[in-house]
Amino acid sequence: MTLPTEPIGSIPRPLSLIEAIDRCGSDNAVLDPMYEAAVRETVKCFEETGSPVITDGEQRKYHNFWTYSVDGLANTAPDGFRIPFAAGHVRRMPRLTSGPFRYRRYADAYIDVARRYTSTPLKQAVISPSALSLMYPAGGIRGYSRDEFISDLLAEHENEIRRCLAKGAKVVQIDFTEGRLAMKIDPAGNLLHSFIDLNNLALSRFSPDERESLGVHTCPGGDCDSTHSADVDYAELLPSLFEIKVKNFYIALALELDRERVLKIIRQYMKPDQRIFVGVVATIDPHIDTPEEVCERVLEASRYIPFDQLGTTDDCGFSPFSDDTSTTRGTAFAKIRARVLGTQMAERLITGA
Ligand SMILES: [Zn+2]
Repeated sequence: MTLPTEPIGSIPRPLSLIEAIDRCGSDNAVLDPMYEAAVRETVKCFEETGSPVITDGEQRKYHNFWTYSVDGLANTAPDGFRIPFAAGHVRRMPRLTSGPFRYRRYADAYIDVARRYTSTPLKQAVISPSALSLMYPAGGIRGYSRDEFISDLLAEHENEIRRCLAKGAKVVQIDFTEGRLAMKIDPAGNLLHSFIDLNNLALSRFSPDERESLGVHTCPGGDCDSTHSADVDYAELLPSLFEIKVKNFYIALALELDRERVLKIIRQYMKPDQRIFVGVVATIDPHIDTPEEVCERVLEASRYIPFDQLGTTDDCGFSPFSDDTSTTRGTAFAKIRARVLGTQMAERLITGA
């Protein structure tokens, strides 16, 4: 018996790449060699951490984990949904201006590139339909109804997941950072429930076997060492979260003020066929977690989650937005290494091996 451990996704981009993107725009072909080098180097460093599952570090997800699939679409305007962070800055989504809605790029293309440099199992993160649903304006679009949009959105999302699975992704993780944020926007819970219903509508298109390779990630956001919804009580989110029809749940936990309380909620609401990957490194904390600290967090979680349903992960990506330089690549990989070592230490203590 082993404890599975997986990353979430993003690794800070090399500073030279960020500067070049600033100069040339992210989608400029002159940057192709730099992107390729960034993926090659990221995959190599990832392998050196010992993480049994790795990612491409989302080096080419521009501009971020949320809008990579639609970045640059002609039928969008920049004044869409706002994501305010506690540090005071705001990230913004594009707004859809006309139909039909189609992705501009699918995440399986990232697997193609990473595969050139590694044979280690790859996780691929994709954005949730609920996050992209926020692109449709509240006032509607003439000649393109919300129902038509949702139908197109679900088809694109399903297509993207199927493409990633076909390329051999070990797991496809649906990023659902807007889940906790939804309870901040609408404390009554209607928005969260509509998000979960929409995501389940998409997931119902997959077989139980396929859903074994699917997961969902929840967190309070992580950008420039700040969050968008850490003040929302997990008790408002987790009972509904476990209704999502996937096998694997990746839950930010390391920075929670009262982890044991959250673990009690997880224990109460998790289902017997679900696996819970708890966050054991604090991605937005500059302190580099030690393996001993990680081990302690795993042992704590193991008191609430059965061993055969437990796994570990990073709290979040290390730079979900491509221009975030608050964490260095060296810090990110040091934290990942601590996750791997600390998880192994805890596993030995738990199994007595
Ligand atoms: Zn996250």
